[in-house]
Amino acid sequence: MATNRVKGTYDVLPNESHQWIMLEQKIRDILSLYHMREIRTPMMEYSNVFHRESEGSDMVTKETYDFVDRSNRALTLRPEGTAGVIRAYVENKLYTSQELEKVYYIGPNFRYERPQKGRYRQFYQFGVEAIGTVDPALDAEIVILAYDFITRLGLKGVKVRVNTLGNEVSRTAYQKALVSHFTPYKDELCSDCKVRIDKNPLRILDCKIDHKHQAVINAPTPLDLLDDLSKEYFDDVISYLDAAGISYEIAPKLVRGLDYYSHTVFEIEADIEGFGAQNVLGGGGRYQNLVKELGGPDLGGIGFAFGMERLLMAIEASHVNFSKDLELDCFVITMSKDLRKIATKLLYDLRSQNYVADMNYTDKSFKGQFKQALRLEAKYIVILGEDEYQRGVASIKNTKTEIQEEVKLEDIVKYLMEKLEN
Ligand code: AMP
Repeated sequence: MATNRVKGTYDVLPNESHQWIMLEQKIRDILSLYHMREIRTPMMEYSNVFHRESEGSDMVTKETYDFVDRSNRALTLRPEGTAGVIRAYVENKLYTSQELEKVYYIGPNFRYERPQKGRYRQFYQFGVEAIGTVDPALDAEIVILAYDFITRLGLKGVKVRVNTLGNEVSRTAYQKALVSHFTPYKDELCSDCKVRIDKNPLRILDCKIDHKHQAVINAPTPLDLLDDLSKEYFDDVISYLDAAGISYEIAPKLVRGLDYYSHTVFEIEADIEGFGAQNVLGGGGRYQNLVKELGGPDLGGIGFAFGMERLLMAIEASHVNFSKDLELDCFVITMSKDLRKIATKLLYDLRSQNYVADMNYTDKSFKGQFKQALRLEAKYIVILGEDEYQRGVASIKNTKTEIQEEVKLEDIVKYLMEKLEN
């Protein structure tokens, strides 16, 4: 019987989950300031949501978990968030109620990649999509949001890199220029890139194998081939970023691997010491054809996605004081079944007052229970001993000051409330 986790997956253990909870909370808090609401779509979709004719990225062609269900339907575990969100947007005709729909999502994605630090087969992303409006101010808002988010996390040494691919006309011109540029080097490129020259030369620029080849280093950039409209659009985006006063850099070589981007593309990179090779925390861009391709009207959108494991790694590498594990206010020690009933009522009353309280559920010795309370770092220990009970009191010990006091049974909750308030 297999008892190991699936390759490329990991467990979030109870002493680690508080970081995830805090990160998710921050995401929700910050995104609501941008007037974004959460959307939750299924983890599996019909395969054609991802396997679209125009989509030729490695993520979709080589890395998806595809399977047929018991009724022979072709399904895919989502490798990314955007396509499912757009499918839901189209299917539920969200475009009829709002001209701009701003949503965010948090959830696991699945990709059959080679696992390494910061790269898993099940990983979490949170992302946003703003669908329905094409305007440079909106592109800027999404970049500003990404910047605001990492700044609020307290991450230092994080860079926002922005570029444009231009509109359809500029992008086509750029693709042509890349084909002419790379064709003389075809024999020297990796087998994937040989195919990419004709299918999608942009992706050569993101190739993990050829990225040091002179032809890649010296390739033309999208900025060289922008038409006037695209240039104006990008200048506007930049002027909005400047108006907000965020820091960013223009990265002429940034294209991002996906096929559907146009106009603004951007990436968030961690330049944190000791962070490691997988240093892209997230990225995104504007897309024009996706809504139409998934059966909706001709509307554009813009979005980004952050990898949550990498955000947590960046938080750790930046030594940000991020979140605390659950704190135990009170631990009750009892030595008999009868007294456990008193303890049960006491715990119920404390929890009713929103204190974190617990006890031992075995017949462990007094010493054993005391040690357990200290190991759990309880702030107070209530000792309900037989002797004390006969006298109508319990002993309460402050584990920090080691001061122990006797308190009347009926006053225990009040006593702890007063102490814990301070
Ligand atoms: P992508 O959807 O490929 O643009 O990725 C967006 C972000 O998701 C990346 O910058 C990473 O932070 C994260 N990411 C992508 N793939 C993985 C993976 N296999 N494991 C962990 N994080 C990932």
